[in-house]
Amino acid sequence: MPASGSSSSSSRHGHIKVLRVDQSGALLSHRGAGRPFFPRREWKKLPCWVLQTAERGSVRLCGDGHRLRWQPVTNRLFAGAVIDGQPECNECEAPLPRRSQALFCRRCFDEEDSLYLVCGACNGRPRLPALWHDALFHGPRLPAALLPPSFELPGPGTVIVVPGGNYEFLASHEAWPVVRWLEGMGIAALVLRYRTLPAFGLEEALDDLEAAAEVARRRRPGPVAAVGFSAGGHLVAALAARAAARGLAQPLDAAVLAYPSINPRPWADPYESGFTRAANGDIVEDEDALCMHKRAASLQGWTDNLLGAGDAPFGAPPTFLVASTTDTIAPSAEHTDPYRRLLAREKVPHVYVHRDLSEHGFGLSGGWTDRCATWLARRGFGEQQPARKRRREPPAG
Ligand SMILES: [Zn+2]
Ligand SMILES: [Zn+2]
Repeated sequence: MPASGSSSSSSRHGHIKVLRVDQSGALLSHRGAGRPFFPRREWKKLPCWVLQTAERGSVRLCGDGHRLRWQPVTNRLFAGAVIDGQPECNECEAPLPRRSQALFCRRCFDEEDSLYLVCGACNGRPRLPALWHDALFHGPRLPAALLPPSFELPGPGTVIVVPGGNYEFLASHEAWPVVRWLEGMGIAALVLRYRTLPAFGLEEALDDLEAAAEVARRRRPGPVAAVGFSAGGHLVAALAARAAARGLAQPLDAAVLAYPSINPRPWADPYESGFTRAANGDIVEDEDALCMHKRAASLQGWTDNLLGAGDAPFGAPPTFLVASTTDTIAPSAEHTDPYRRLLAREKVPHVYVHRDLSEHGFGLSGGWTDRCATWLARRGFGEQQPARKRRREPPAG
């Protein structure tokens, strides 16, 4: 069994596959990578946060999938239509100066009278891989540690990136940009492709995360952390809870939980769960048909431990917790506030960033990442800066 190296792009560790991907998160080869999550004819039914039409691939499209074209910004865009006020970039909201070049959707303009423009700076940003090549959109039955080139960075420590997706999908925008952010700080990362509902339950996903931690420890020096978003944050916290309940050592040395769905109770309510798939795996388009499938009950598995009910054992490694005061999907009062109280009660070192970071799913935006980077560096992740001489502060008072 090949461990790593240029001759092979995949191997296995325990039940988990180890797959190499390029820096954008695209598969190096479709051979052995598993089939896409859904056949192409069903892609149009996927939620927009999975499709990410405007964010993926090398061909620039608007959110509705129309092709964008370069156009100078003037008062009269096409067919003499007059634009009132200064147009803005749809992505960064920066005003577009007259005569600058912008990408423009003519069809949205002609058919819906809406202006879809993208500035040159936004066009230059790294993209998500096309769905067809995205390693997170393949192999729903093949859990994998996806290793981007930055997995080979020389600094110590490894971060496992755990995207959310309501345990039904794996959200690429909570994975590949995170790898690039960590790489920028010299921190090696891998992305976890864990098994999801409805074919699998929470315990399988936890086994996948545990196996990924073993892959990281076997292949790289230094501590191992996980960064989990939304449902991925629940998965990271639940792994710590499971280890504590079983009286085992913590599998991770540190955790970063961004808008985690700590409290699993909403998943038990078909109208709050947000599930878009039926028990047979089909995407349900009719909201009245929202289906609570049997496997979703497994998500309640470690509720008492996560919420500190009774004397249920609580476990967590040092934790960096991030929540937005305006998150209506996983409100902090129900999810992160109680978790923070438990971290304090159990004297687990932690940081709680809690302010208006906008609605659920804000990813790396909002300005929380710099403080998190410092926190990770202090815990031994990434190329360490040469120790600076500390100036002695005079004693206070
Ligand atoms: Zn822009
Ligand atoms: Zn359009």
